[in-house]
Amino acid sequence: MGERIEPWRAAFAVRRDWPDRTHEFVGFVRTEAGAARFIEADRAYWRRAPWRPDHGIVVISLRDFDLHRHRPMCRAPDCPTGSSTVHRVRRRHSR
Ligand SMILES: [Zn+2]
Repeated sequence: MGERIEPWRAAFAVRRDWPDRTHEFVGFVRTEAGAARFIEADRAYWRRAPWRPDHGIVVISLRDFDLHRHRPMCRAPDCPTGSSTVHRVRRRHSR
């Protein structure tokens, strides 16, 4: 750690999509592998919850990530989604 991420530089974040169709971004990290590890831990955390989020990895800048913190229960359709990236990660992990 200790390596800072410039606000304008895109990095990776984990997107949680909830059953009520809201979403949030958590786990801003520098690498896709870091985001994948975050998802594994987060899945374990929510495993026994009455509802669970769907996870995705998105490419996002730190600035956008910070701005999104101020939008709780966000339902905006134009927020980044990353299903194709997530599929790539899953395939790599299943090997
Ligand atoms: Zn949003």
